[in-house]
This record gives sequence, C-alpha cells and structure tokens, in this order.
Amino acid sequence: MRSHSKKSLGQQVNRFKSIIKRLRNKLKEKDEILSMILNDGHISYMVIDENGNIIRINNKCLEILGYTKKFIEDQHISSISNLDSKKLSSIISSIFKNRNTGKIIPFICDDNTIIKGNLTCISYQENNNAILLIDFIKDEEFEKELQHERYLLQVLMDNIPDTIYFKDKNSRFIRINKAQAELLGVDNPHDALGNTDFDYFTKTHAKKAYNDEQHILKTGESIVNKEEKLILKNKPTRWVSTTKVSIPNSEGKITQMVGISRNITARKHAEQKLKKALEKAKEADKLKSAFLANMSHEIRTPLNSILGFADLLLHPNLPEGKRTEFINIITSSGNMLLNLVNDIIDIAKIEAGQLNIIEKPLDINPFLQEIYLIYTEQMKGKASAKIRFALELPGDLHNPVISTDSTRLRQIITNLVNNAFKFTREGYIHVGYNYNKKTNNLDFYVEDTGIGIPGDKIGLIFKRFGRIISEKDMIDKGTGLGLAICKGLVELLGGKIGVETELNKGSIFRFSIPAKFVNVQQVSDNKKDIDLRLIDWSKKSVLIVEDDLYSFNYLKEALAPTNINIEFSESGEKAVDLIHSDKHFDIILMDLKLKGIDGYQTAELIGEINDKIPIIAQTAYALDNEENKTIEKGFDGYISKPIQLNSLLKLLIKFL
Ligand code: ADP
Repeated sequence: MRSHSKKSLGQQVNRFKSIIKRLRNKLKEKDEILSMILNDGHISYMVIDENGNIIRINNKCLEILGYTKKFIEDQHISSISNLDSKKLSSIISSIFKNRNTGKIIPFICDDNTIIKGNLTCISYQENNNAILLIDFIKDEEFEKELQHERYLLQVLMDNIPDTIYFKDKNSRFIRINKAQAELLGVDNPHDALGNTDFDYFTKTHAKKAYNDEQHILKTGESIVNKEEKLILKNKPTRWVSTTKVSIPNSEGKITQMVGISRNITARKHAEQKLKKALEKAKEADKLKSAFLANMSHEIRTPLNSILGFADLLLHPNLPEGKRTEFINIITSSGNMLLNLVNDIIDIAKIEAGQLNIIEKPLDINPFLQEIYLIYTEQMKGKASAKIRFALELPGDLHNPVISTDSTRLRQIITNLVNNAFKFTREGYIHVGYNYNKKTNNLDFYVEDTGIGIPGDKIGLIFKRFGRIISEKDMIDKGTGLGLAICKGLVELLGGKIGVETELNKGSIFRFSIPAKFVNVQQVSDNKKDIDLRLIDWSKKSVLIVEDDLYSFNYLKEALAPTNINIEFSESGEKAVDLIHSDKHFDIILMDLKLKGIDGYQTAELIGEINDKIPIIAQTAYALDNEENKTIEKGFDGYISKPIQLNSLLKLLIKFL
C-alpha cells in the first residue's frame, strides 16, 4: 500500500510537472502568438483601462485615425468616438466583464471623418487593462459622402481669411485652418495639433484665452465679437474680433469648442488715427477760439487808440507838445496793428508754402549789434531796465559774412528776444551765436532767467496759437503766433529750432541755420536812410495812379521834399488819357487795385502808347505773391503797402 501510494505520489508529481510544462508551453505559445499578432504591421490595436482611458495605441491605429501619439494617449476613448457615452461605457464594461468581442463602435478621425471599428478583446493584462484589436470597416457610400463633406469644409476653412481653430477640453488644438497656421507660424496645420496658445502667444494673452475657453467649455456660454490684442512672439501685434462657441457631442456634453477670429488691425489703426485726428481737431478748435477772442482784443486796442487820439488831434487849441505825443501814440498803435497783420499774413504764407526766402550776404555781427542796440534803447526807463541784457559774439570768427535772408533772421531773433523780455522779471537775457564746425551751422541762442515752460507744454508753444498762460494773461500778451512763425522761418532757412527750459528758472531757445559763408568784405548797407536833402527831382515828374485819396496824399507829402512834379489820377482810364496828352512823365506809380480797369490793364494800355516810361506797381495784396506776378506782367518795380519812404526813394533813384 505504502509503496503503491509512494509510487502513485511520484507518478502524480510527474503528471503535475508534465501538466505544468504543457501549460507553460501553451502559455509561451500564446505569448508568441500574441506578440506576433501585435507586431503585425497590418493590425490596429489600443490598450485601454477599465474606465475607458487610452493607455497605449499602435502606429497602425494612429495612421488610420490620423492622430498623433502625443495627442491621443491619456484621452478617454469617448473623445475619439461619437457613440453615445452610455452605450460606450456599457460596451467597455462588457468587454472587461465578459471578454465580449465583436462590438462595433464608430471612431472620429482627426479630419472629422467617421470610421467604424470592430473590437476584439484579446487578453487581460496587468493592472486590469485590455488589449483591443480593432478591425476598421470601410463603408464605401458613407465614406464617399463624408469625403465630399470633408472637402467642402476644408475648402471653406482654407479660403476664409479669418483664423479658425477647434480645441479640446484642455484648450489643445485639434484642428486649425490655413490662416491660423499662418498666424501661429507653422507650415502645416497638423504641426500645431496637440499644442496650446501657450506655445505661440505671450503668457498673458494665452492665459486670458485659456480662461475664456475653460469658461465656455464649462458653461456653454459663447463669446461673441470680443476684441482682443494678439501679442505673438516675434510678430507684429494683431487686433482681432473673436467669437468662440462650445461644441457639444451627441449626448449634449461639451467636449470641444471652435473659435473664429477676424483680423481688425487695419480698422483699429484707422480708429486710433481718427481718435488722434479728432483730439487734434478739438485742440485746434480750442486754440482758434482762444485766438479769435484774443485777436479781437489785439485789433481793438490799437484801433481804439488810433481813432481816439486822431479825434483828440482835431481839438483846435491843442498844445504842440500834446499833438506830438498823440501822433506818436497813433504811430506806435498803427505799427502794432501792422505787426499783427504781418504776423497773420506770415503764418498764412508759411502754411501755404508761399513765403520766399531771399538770400543776400549779411555781415552777421553788426547785424546783431544793431538789434542789441535797439533793445537797449527801448529798455531805458522801463521796468526791464534792471534785467542784464547782453550780446555774446564768438571770438573765433572774424567778421563773418553769411548768405541768408536778413529780414527773416531779424524776425526770428526779435521774436525770441521779445518773448524773453515778456516772460522775464529779473536776472538776465543773453543773445548770441556760435559756429559749429562739425555741422557747419551757426547756432543762435536767446537765454533768459524767466518763468520757464512746463515740460509737457513744449510741444504746444511752437504750434500756431499755442500759448500756455491762463485766459486772463492771454488777453494781455501776444497772439501765440510768434514761435510758430519762428519755427516756420527757421525751417525755411534750412535749420531747426528748439528749447531747453526749466519752470521758474528760465529758458534757452536755440536755433541753427546753415553757415553759408560769403567772401565779401563790405556788405552794402541797405538799411541806411536816404538823406532827402540830397535829392532834387524838380525837373522830374511822376504820375501817381491811386484811387485812395489818403494813400495819394501820403505819397504827395512824403515826396514833397524832393520837389518832384506830381500828377494824380484816381482811375486807370484817366491815366491812359494823360499818357495820350502831351504831358511828360519820368515814372508812374501804379496802384493795382483800381475801381474801373485795374492796374495791370492800365499798365498794358500805357505800354502800348509809350513803353519807355518805367511803371512801379504798388499794392496791399500781401498774400498773392504779387511781386512775381507784376514782374511777369512787365512792371519795372514793385513796392508793397504800407509804403516805407526809404524803400520808395531807393526804387525811384534807380529810375530817375
Ligand atoms: P506769444 O508770445 O505771442 O504768446 P509765442 O508763439 O511767441 O506767442 O509764444 C507762445 C507761448 O510760449 C507764450 O505764450 C509763452 O507761454 C511761451 N513762451 C515763449 N517764450 C517764452 C519764454 N522765453 N519764457 C517762457 N515762456 C515762453
């Protein structure tokens, strides 16, 4: 018994061993078969866990579905199937519980096509995962239809200039159009799949967009036409109007979203420009209103003096001293008015590009000394007398003579010096210049220890009507045109103007003009007054054609000391008659604006009768570039009103 039982135990052990061996062999065989199946290039499979999360996927499967490994791993199977999630869960649990095979589920491919897959669960693995073999089934009809739909969608997406992007629950790109690929800087839309805004945009923008999208994906609320500023890495900023909406799956659960953004950069820029233009227009309007209010005061003040004192002059018993005083007041008020009109005309001419620069050699140091002397004379006995006014000339230049427009240069300097006196109560005012070898410019400056200018207002003062003092002060001082004229003139002379200033400390206005040195030792001094006593034109005669009696009387009085014979004609017609008569004239002064036939026509008719008599045009049209026109029309000279006696005499001397 015992030996029998011993034997049978040994036999049993051997039997078990052989069973184990056989089992091992079978298992090995099974493993080999499994690995053969899985490594077969034609078989698609994925490994999923009990919850339906995709743990692994082979290349064949990826190839058919069109996804990247990076995108698909860790996704739930429901994110690539459009099957109702209840049905999907029941299929998964039946696979895990009963190893049920032969279940068919539809998969959504990357290009949104649907492909059906027949599932075969071939084994349980560790961690309770399942290997699903997938046999993809092609439905030809369905596939064709889908392909057409897919084609239409692709054409639409790729030809629309707006950027379109589909994103998953984690805001990762799952599909984008060409425009979006272009914006992101990727050659192929596929390259962006699985990436997020954080890979392309600045962190701030990506975060904002992410928050918006998560809100949409959680609540289903859409964002419509939201204006966003896209700051892309290494690209110009783009403004877009964005609409983002959620995409629910067949059960109504939100799994994706789509965004569409329209480039509105051009519109935004236009809006910004418009806003700026509007602000500018408002500012210009404000300045103009202030200017008009100011101007009305500026014109009335001297006019009232002129009219008032002219009235007083009529008083019969006016002592001689008073008469002179009143005449002086009238003259200075008239000059003030003339300056104002000149300023307005200058600025209008500068803006219209009609101000011509006439360059002549200028001995710069005596020119500045003359200006300096005029101011020191004016300062005498005035409050400004305590200001130390000095002219600073460079020691390194010997009698420099430059070619420039002295009238315009004088205008710039006097404007700046006038301002310096206007805005300085104590301290000093220095005016001077230096030669800059490097730039070959003369750098002029007018420095004061006055009230200074707030930093943020510097841009304003060089604009026309730009003033920074209060409304009350504005009534008292200036028109706000001076610096605008200076800037225009300096630029016309080929230079630049600027200011360095500190509030309550003072200002230095600097401007430079090209140093066009001229090799002339003696510059003819055109400014010297002509001594009337030296002129005797008693044998000469002038015809003055003028329809304004006051202007004629002025000329008559002004020319009286020369003893010239004066004939007067108040119309063009009468002037022509006088030429027809046997009267002799050595020169004609012709007003251009006459009541009947104008000065141009009259001159032409006179020329036809006698073309030997020089005709000088006189006009008050300051704006029309009249001088050139008169020369073109054959006049021999030109003089503008109000006529300066000195200038008139110089002109007459040329012809008489
Ligand atoms: P206006 O002097 O007729 O007002 P300007 O164009 O010459 O016009 O000057 C514009 C403004 O610039 C002045 O109103 C004043 O506020 C400021 N400004 C000009 N020069 C000076 C200066 N030297 N010191 C302080 N402020 C100045």
